[in-house]
Amino acid sequence: MAGYRDTLNLPNTNFPMKADLVKREPERLRWWRERGLYRKLRAARSGRQVWLLHDGPPYSNAHLHLGTAANKIWKDAAVRSASARGLDSPYVPGWDNHGMPIETEVGKQLRSEGVDADRLTLRRRCREYATRWVGIQREEFERLGVWGEWENPFLTMAPGFEAEILSSFGALAARGFIERRLRSIHWCPTDRTALALAEIEYQDDPAHSIIVRFPLLRDPGGALARHAGLEALAWTTTPWTLPANLGLMADPDATYAVVRVADRRFLLAEARLAAVADTAGWKEHEIEARTKGATLVGAVFEGPWGNESPIVDGTPYVSLKDGTGLVHLAPGHGREDFEVGRRAGLPVSCPVDAAGRFLPGTEPFVGRSVLEVDPDITRWLEGRGRILTAGKIVHSYPHCWRCRGPVI
Ligand SMILES: [Zn+2]
Repeated sequence: MAGYRDTLNLPNTNFPMKADLVKREPERLRWWRERGLYRKLRAARSGRQVWLLHDGPPYSNAHLHLGTAANKIWKDAAVRSASARGLDSPYVPGWDNHGMPIETEVGKQLRSEGVDADRLTLRRRCREYATRWVGIQREEFERLGVWGEWENPFLTMAPGFEAEILSSFGALAARGFIERRLRSIHWCPTDRTALALAEIEYQDDPAHSIIVRFPLLRDPGGALARHAGLEALAWTTTPWTLPANLGLMADPDATYAVVRVADRRFLLAEARLAAVADTAGWKEHEIEARTKGATLVGAVFEGPWGNESPIVDGTPYVSLKDGTGLVHLAPGHGREDFEVGRRAGLPVSCPVDAAGRFLPGTEPFVGRSVLEVDPDITRWLEGRGRILTAGKIVHSYPHCWRCRGPVI
């Protein structure tokens, strides 16, 4: 008896019903390779308008993950569609062979082998490591069906590539575009490396929120000197940056008030007075004088470590929405502080080593990690009568994308 199949009008095709990709994909790749299809395509498009995709290369340090695979497949689609549109679109894949991930991994291997490697050995081992992963990733990319110049990729560790970078840098230097100066950067004390902005992740952290008292040393302008015992108030959530304090930022257009509280006198922005009075628990206070921020510039106060801390124009970084309207300025700790400090001609102090430990000049905290010293600095300053209020808040703080630890 005939089956149902014979009663139906099905199309005839030799397209296999079963996908069987595990078997069929390698066959297809081999079919492409044996016929040299990529080379034929290059030859066929030779002389046409060039459409070149500059590949942002992956790190040669691990098996492909889904992100790298997806990224490469989309690039392949873009390059192939350019070829389909009649353009000459070769694809030159590349690898980034440098960076911390490789160094960290090789460092681990060397330690497990008990090898105390010198720099040359470390570099040689990193090069071997990177080379091995270039080979593995190349196979994995080809397995994804990506067409390109796999025999001739660009490698950032290739001597020719490095020479090209040096020669470009030399050309820039010769034309006067390069100069050596200090710059403020994010630094991971755990990995002991600088971090790019793209390598920073913000996270809400508990923090010490303190208002610090800066006694007046002298006021060349003369407006403040008649207020005996005057202290400027500055707010910070990073007490560990106070040893590097070299100034106070004011908003030149804001109104600042000299406020008498019992027998003490404080300087702060009038717009912040109510909030500060509330935090400090002032029952009664009286404004003795008002002045524009601009007239304060040049007045010199005593910083927490006994240094001179002059008021400078902090435009546009002085907020009247929080703090006291006077901002603790540490040009060695932070991009904005650095910029304002340089504009005001202040020196730069960064009394912290590569591992985030205090250097001499920060007594009694020399050798301590800046990441755990905030409570002790707060207590120490309290003991010296330099704290108006101390509390805890949660603030958004930058972290290292690699080790998740806080950065400085
Ligand atoms: Zn880190």
